[in-house]
Amino acid sequence: MNEQTYILVIDDERGIREGCRRILEAENYSVETAENGKQGLDLIQSKPFDLILVDLMMPVMGGLEMMEKVMTDFPELIMIVITGYATIETAVDAMKHGAYDYIPKPFAPDQLLTVINRGLEKHRLQQQAKQLMEERDRRLLEVANEKSRIHTIVNSMGDAVLVINRDQQLVLWNPAAVKMLNITKKLKPGQDLTQIIFQPDLIQIINKAVDPKAAHYTSISEEIELSKPEAQTLMANVSVVRDENSEMLGVVCILRNITQLKKIDRVKSQFVSMVAHELRAPLSAIENYITTYLTGAAGDDPEFNRNMLERSRKRAHSLLNLVEDLLQISRMESQHVSRKKQLLDVSEIINNTVELLKTQAKDENIGFKIDVPKPCPTIEADRGEMEQLFTNFISNAIKYNVKNGNVSIIFESTENFLIMKISDTGIGISEEDLPHIFDDFFRISREETRYVTGTGLGLSIVKKIVESNLGRINVESELNKGTTFTITFPIKMN
Ligand code: ADP
Repeated sequence: MNEQTYILVIDDERGIREGCRRILEAENYSVETAENGKQGLDLIQSKPFDLILVDLMMPVMGGLEMMEKVMTDFPELIMIVITGYATIETAVDAMKHGAYDYIPKPFAPDQLLTVINRGLEKHRLQQQAKQLMEERDRRLLEVANEKSRIHTIVNSMGDAVLVINRDQQLVLWNPAAVKMLNITKKLKPGQDLTQIIFQPDLIQIINKAVDPKAAHYTSISEEIELSKPEAQTLMANVSVVRDENSEMLGVVCILRNITQLKKIDRVKSQFVSMVAHELRAPLSAIENYITTYLTGAAGDDPEFNRNMLERSRKRAHSLLNLVEDLLQISRMESQHVSRKKQLLDVSEIINNTVELLKTQAKDENIGFKIDVPKPCPTIEADRGEMEQLFTNFISNAIKYNVKNGNVSIIFESTENFLIMKISDTGIGISEEDLPHIFDDFFRISREETRYVTGTGLGLSIVKKIVESNLGRINVESELNKGTTFTITFPIKMN
């Protein structure tokens, strides 16, 4: 900061000008001089001064005329008049023209310094007052900005916010609160809570928090169930606000809609219990076989014992399949599948899959018909996933077929899509089972499927694969006639 003090001396008498300069420079003030009002005004306009000493009687432009102009443009500049006529009238006139003080000629150096220092002190105080005013204005602006910032934050929150005083009156709220609690009335600060909120559970928690006779709560968190306008679960967190003397002022209530989280939680527990159920049957069968063998209850017939071991092996194998499918589902759901997408000719995958599964179809004498265009339009997908997808569909078409039945695989294409139809002439699926076949663990129990093994996870995996490749899947079926799965994928060419 520049601490130098700048003083301008305006007088037509050279002796006064130079005399003042000497006295003031000896005090370390920076001094400039002017011979008349016009010169003085030009200097004031070109650079800042802290104080000016001005003579009244000067040629070109007199002191009073100049002071009038300075007063309008530089109201904070301290002006001290040097006058040869030290009368009350002159002094009053000079003050009216904006002078802070005056000094009669001739004057001694210490007289000049006394007046100058008084003027500079006034200037310093004036500057200080100005700074304080600016600081206050800045603070006020900051407070206003802060208020509007908090307002914006509270209003844009997804959680509902309600601030309630100890008399249970509404102080502040946000749009999320209005929506979540289905408040239809126009809200005003000071409204009684019970006139606006009709959720008894919520009112009860707030009552508990504000009740001076109740325990000294800091906050209460509880789940509440709402039935209107739709069934929702909210997590209410009511925090008690106290002053420095622990006097309760009111509560801040934050409500979060946890309906979706609760649903996911429920689905997860259902899934865990389904998995446990699915694992229990084969495991207990294996345990039974082993127990029968170990206790000797099966007798010595080697054929019978071998048969039991063979059955245990089959159940263990199906358990492994189940665990494999479960692991794949969990990988897909946690988005941790590493897919290597590439352009694929699916007709080649179909031919290979059919070749591999033909032995499975041999016993029942199931025939295959493959009708795919050559060249086949390519799609972009992971080879391993596509192999699994067709293996599931074709193996189901064999498993749920009838003796001497048929499986046909027909591809059609439009400009943008490859449409793959896998049909069988098998046992079909009833209308009521059809919507559930892509659900986890869904298996239809019928006389015809009694000896067909499976996990009930194949189609649910297939659906996830199709969706993750932006494809579509559709199924049509007629009981005892057959089933057709139609899978549509976007064509992607080189
Ligand atoms: P699974 O391991 O039991 O084969 P999926 O998820 O592949 O499990 O299939 C679910 C159920 O849908 C099967 O158990 C079966 O009842 C029925 N299903 C699937 N594909 C066919 C089909 N082509 N024909 C008749 N039923 C089928």
